[in-house]
This record gives sequence, structure tokens and C-alpha cells, in this order.
Amino acid sequence: PTAPALAVAPTPLEVLRTVFGYEAFRGEQQQIIDTVVAGGDALVLMPTGGGKSLCYQIPALVRRGTGVVVSPLIALMQDQVDALETLGVRAGFLNSTQNPDERREVERAYRAGELDLLYLAPERLGVPSTARLLDEGTIALFAIDEAHCVSQWGHDFRPDYLRLGELAERWPGVPRIALTATATRQTHEEIATRLALTEARHFVASFDRPNITYRIVPKDNPFRQLLDLLRAEHAGDAGIVYCLSRASVEKTAQQLVENGVRALPYHAGLPSDVRAAHQATFLREDGVVMVATIAFGMGIDKPDVRFVAHLDLPKSVEGYYQETGRAGRDGLPSTAWLAYGLSDVVQQRRMIAESDGDAAHRRRLAAHLDAMLALCETVECRRAQLLRYFGQDHPGGCGACDTCQNPPQAWDGTIAAQKLLSAVYRLERERNQRFGVGHVVDILRGKATPKITQWRHDELTVFGVGDDLPEAQWRSVARQLLAQGLLEVDPAHGTLLLTEASGDVLGRRREVPLRHDPRPQGRTTSRSGG
Ligand code: ADP
Ligand code: ZN
Repeated sequence: PTAPALAVAPTPLEVLRTVFGYEAFRGEQQQIIDTVVAGGDALVLMPTGGGKSLCYQIPALVRRGTGVVVSPLIALMQDQVDALETLGVRAGFLNSTQNPDERREVERAYRAGELDLLYLAPERLGVPSTARLLDEGTIALFAIDEAHCVSQWGHDFRPDYLRLGELAERWPGVPRIALTATATRQTHEEIATRLALTEARHFVASFDRPNITYRIVPKDNPFRQLLDLLRAEHAGDAGIVYCLSRASVEKTAQQLVENGVRALPYHAGLPSDVRAAHQATFLREDGVVMVATIAFGMGIDKPDVRFVAHLDLPKSVEGYYQETGRAGRDGLPSTAWLAYGLSDVVQQRRMIAESDGDAAHRRRLAAHLDAMLALCETVECRRAQLLRYFGQDHPGGCGACDTCQNPPQAWDGTIAAQKLLSAVYRLERERNQRFGVGHVVDILRGKATPKITQWRHDELTVFGVGDDLPEAQWRSVARQLLAQGLLEVDPAHGTLLLTEASGDVLGRRREVPLRHDPRPQGRTTSRSGG
């Protein structure tokens, strides 16, 4: 209401130059901004680093009133507001971390028309008093950041996001812009439906991140492999190392420090002041390696992250894409590196079997995992496969992924698969025992270990039928059979079990193409990594 009536609104380009200090728009920023400035809705799919924030920040500055930004990234709101204030943009936020006085001051400023941007946690919008507050000021637009959180099919569902569909009914005249950096075709459609973006223009940028080189290597001795990568290619670089558990975060960070790398741990179990301090060090200082669970990284804007390494398998391709996307926002060459092994498949399948939720939920998790495994085991260009997962065509042969640079050999694994599955079949009547992959491989290779003698497995017909292949290759066979759903793991005992599809292989109705793992350079494969 207090906007100066006579002032002529600046154009988006003027705001870009005078407020943000950039010369020109990138990609489709201009069209997106024009759509929203004109009062239209927009759905924006743009990779990390593409420049999504300006797509709502500039319309908020050009239009009369306050741009209301819904974001799940509560921990970052203070930083975002601080950064905007340095540019002279008037911004505030409302979330659960504030005390009543702070909240009241932001509310007052909003009512008085003193805010260009107001960041809100999604649960705030469900509170009636928030809706009343918004009515007491002027809303320039709604921006819904991380819009994939509305998708139940996606990997990062937030129930509070479901209410955001009501914005259109409650404030029909206010333009809405939804933004995300990961969306399969399915998620894309779900966002449009659930947020009631029926009239929205869709802006879909290429998800390709040409400056990122993708590499997925078989896990051998993961810490050693990581250290080799850092020493050979990323000495002194800033990077993120993702681990699945808090314990492995702690251990890996400590080991890195012992090996002269400036590493810090980050996970939800650390006190919040420690986390904040580590995050600040990572953002402000050069060459810090953050070892973290996936709790770290959403919304972190550090342009010069030179590598993202995964020591454990991500649960979905969306997660993998989002995490690796934190590398190379500045456009310079960067590495996405993942070490992946048999134990990852076993562990994740077990976690799915034991997860809460109904059968449909578990099927969804399994489908996510299968797509991730297919990316790991592909003999094709990784980039092409990754982009196709998001519904975008790519001719392959990118030249900047490991399968392009060092094409893996495919081999006919049908006979090997038959041997391994028959060994598993022989053990099935003892299924309440712990016969993991190692034991099965020992049987195939004809190794008379104490466990084998004790169970008289040296008397099985399959004993020793696999001495033509080295142990590492057998483990690779087992891993790929698990990945292809031709084998499963009993979650209770870790014992290998046949699946329905295994019957086709044993009955010779199905061939099993496999991929040769590249040999780790300069070392023989140990079995520690799994
Ligand atoms: P996203 O949210 O899509 O990951 P950001 O909005 O954080 O991306 O933008 C990534 C980086 O690119 C930021 O540092 C931002 O300031 C910068 N940027 C965005 N648009 C432009 C532009 N038109 N010209 C120059 N830099 C830009
Ligand atoms: Zn490639």
C-alpha cells in the first residue's frame, strides 16, 4: 500500500544490472520473468546453478507488493535474507527458529509494505493467522521453491507442500511461479496438477551439466579410492563427500584429516552450532572438503565445489542428480564420482524391505533404487542415461563420463549366472543360516574354508564349478544379478535367495549380459569394500 505511486517501475533488465550487478539474462530467465511480471503463472525446471532465484526475485522487485517465497530450506533463510540485504533488497522470513519479537517485527514490516521479499516455511501457510497476515499487505507473487517436494512419487516429499494447491483459490489474482532442479516427466506433471498450475507456462531447461564429468567405479577399498581421487585430481579443491550414515561421516572425515585433507563432518546428529560453523567454514574458506550425509547441501550456493564424491549408493537418480549438481555451479570442470559395490545393493534392498509404509511405498522405493542401479551398471554413456531418466534426449557419446572415456566390455554372463544361481538354490533349504555372497563365492571357487567343511558344502555338485573366474569377478556377477533383480537378499539373515526371474535363467530361457568391471589401477582387488 505504501509503494510510491508516482515512481515508474524499473524494467527487469534494469533491476538485473543495478541491483544484482549482472549484464545479461541467462537462458530463459527473461521470458520467465516477463511471464510473472505480466501476472502469469510459471513452472520452471532448471538445473542447479541455472539461476532460478532471479526468476522470482526480479518480478518481486518489479511488481508492486511483496514476493512471498515458500521454501523448505529453513536453515538457509537467514543467509538468503542477509545476502539480499547486502544488495539493498528488503527481505525477511518467518519460520519456527524465530522468537516472537523477531516475528512481530517481520510482520509489521510486511504490513507496512516495507518488504520486497518474504520467505516462508511451508507449514506457516497452513496456519490461519499467516493467511490473515498476508491479506493485510500486498502480495506481488508466490514463489514455490523446491517444488518437487509436492510430489509423492518423488524422493523428497513434504506433506506441507500439498496445501500449496490452495493458494490459487485463496489468492486467485496473484501470479505463482514454481521452481525445481529435479523432475522426471512424472514428477513434472504431478507438480502442475497438485499446485493447480493449469494455466502456467512451462519452462524446461536442459538438465545437462556439461562441465561435470560423471564416474561410477566399483567399490574396492572405498577410502583408499577416495584419497587417490583427491590426491590425483583434486588436491586443495573444495568438495563434498556423501556417506549414508553418521558414523561413516565421522570416520571418513577423521581419516581424511589424518591424511592431510582439510575435511569437516556434517550430519543431523551434530549440535546445531557445530553444523552452522562447519557450513560457514565450507562456504567462506577455500579448499574445504565437507563430509556429510544428504542432510547437507540443499540450497547451498558455493560456486567452486570441484567434486562431489559418493561413498555409498544414493537411493534414487533424482537424489544422485541433485547431489552431484552441487559441483561446478561456476561452469568450470568438475567431477561427480561414485563408488558402488555389492554391499550397497544388499544394504539398500534390506532397508527397503524393512521400511515403514505400505506395499506401494516399498514398490516406489524399489523402482527408485532400480533406476539408480541401472545407471551404475550401464555400458552406455552415463550422461545420456541420466538425461533420459528426466525425459530429455541425448545422443550419447558425451566424452565426459567414464563409460565414454573407457568403454566397458560387455560379456555373456549366462553360464556364470546359472552357476551362481544353482549354488544359491542348493543353499535354500538352509535359508535361516547366514550364507552371504562370500560363502557362495567360496563354494563356486572350491575353497574349503572351515565354514564350508562344517556345512559339508564341499560335497555339493556346484563346489568348485566356478574356479575359472577370479573372486572379484564373481562378486561383480552377484552384484549385477542383484541389480537386475535376478537375486535377492533375505533381509533377516543376509542370505542370498532366488527370485521369480531367476527361474528363467536356470531354465535357460533368459540370457544375462553383464559388464566387465574395469580393473582398479595398480592394486589387486580386495574384498573389504564389498
Ligand atoms: P539455482 O537456484 O538455479 O541453483 P541460483 O539462482 O543460485 O541458481 O544462481 C546460481 C548462480 O548464478 C548465482 O551465483 C547467481 O547469482 C548467478 N546468476 C544467476 N543469473 C545470472 C545471470 N543472468 N548472470 C550472471 N550470473 C547469474
Ligand atoms: Zn558419456
